[in-house]
Amino acid sequence: MTTPRILVLGTGGTIAGAGTGATGAAYRPGGLALGTLVEHLSALGLAAELVPQEIARIGSQDIGWAEWQALHAACTTALADPAIDGIIITHGTDTAEETGFLLDLTLPTHKPIVMVGAMRAADAVGADGMRNFANAVKVASDPQAAGRGVMLVMGDAVLAARDARKAATSSIDAFRTFPRGPLARVTPATLDWFGPPHRTGELARYAFPPELPRVAILTAGAGMDEKPVEALLGIGARGIVLAGMGQGNAPRVVIEALARAAASGVPVVRSTRVDEGLVDRNVEVDDDVLGLVAARAFGPARARMLLIVLIANGITEAAAVQAAFDGV
Ligand code: ASP
Repeated sequence: MTTPRILVLGTGGTIAGAGTGATGAAYRPGGLALGTLVEHLSALGLAAELVPQEIARIGSQDIGWAEWQALHAACTTALADPAIDGIIITHGTDTAEETGFLLDLTLPTHKPIVMVGAMRAADAVGADGMRNFANAVKVASDPQAAGRGVMLVMGDAVLAARDARKAATSSIDAFRTFPRGPLARVTPATLDWFGPPHRTGELARYAFPPELPRVAILTAGAGMDEKPVEALLGIGARGIVLAGMGQGNAPRVVIEALARAAASGVPVVRSTRVDEGLVDRNVEVDDDVLGLVAARAFGPARARMLLIVLIANGITEAAAVQAAFDGV
C-alpha cells in the first residue's frame, strides 16, 4: 500500500496553543507554527506523508469569511489534486462547529476532510492535541472515511460536522453529537466505523457564500421585550436565529416581533438555548401562521451557519428554508 498524502491546513487554536508554563491556565491560541506541530507529529512515525499549509494562526473566536474563503479554496484545490488523499484542518474548538458545518454544506464528499482541535495547549500537562492529531491522520488516511461529509475528531471519537457541537468549556471530552451518535471510535492504532459511508458521491450542497449576510442569534430570556428584535432589524439583519427557551419559545411580544420580521422578508429560524433536543414546527408557536422556521436538531450556531448559506444562495422564503433545515 502506498503512503497516504494528507494536506494539513492550519488555522491556529489551542491545538497550536503555547502557554506561559505547563501548569498555568493562560496561553495564546495559534502560538505554535503549523510546521512545528507537523514536525512533532512526523516524529511519531505515523504512516502518512503530511503536507502543511498555514491558513492562519488565530484563536477560532476570530475566524471569519476571509479564513473560511481561504480554507474552502484550499480544500477545493486539494479535492481536485490526485496526489492528495485526504485533508486535515487544525482549528480552535470554540467555532469548529461553524467552520465544520460551513465546509460540510459547501464541499463535495469524495475525499476525507477531518477537522481536529484540542482542549489543552500544546505545552500543557496532559495535552490532548498530539493524540487528536494522530487520530485525525488515522481517519484522513482511511479510504472508508470518504463519503461521510466533513468530520471532527476529538476525544477518540469521529463526529459528523453536521451533528457536532461544543458542550463543555474545558474538559477534554468537550464535544457532543446529536441527533446521530459518533461515526466511529478512533485511536492512533485503531479505527472502527459504526456504519458504511452515507453520503458517497455527493456534490457540494450549496455554493460557498460570496460574502457573509448579517445573521444574528437572539437569545430569549424571561421578561424580555421586543426591542432587541427591532434593534437587529435596525442594523440590517438579513436573518435571525432565535435561541429560544425549550422548543424555541420566547415571550409573546418577541414572537410577534419575529413574525413581523418574517413578514418583511427577514427569515426567522427558531432554535433553542437548551443544550440538546429537537425544535419542531407548530408545537407552542404556530409557525404556519407566523411564517417562522423550526431549526429541528440544529443548535443556534449551526442554525445560523445554515441560514447564512441559504440566504447567500438566494433561499429566504420560509417553506424553502424549512425544507433545507429538514433535509440537510
Ligand atoms: N479559543 C480557542 C479557539 O477556539 C479554544 C480552543 O481551541 O479550544 O481557538
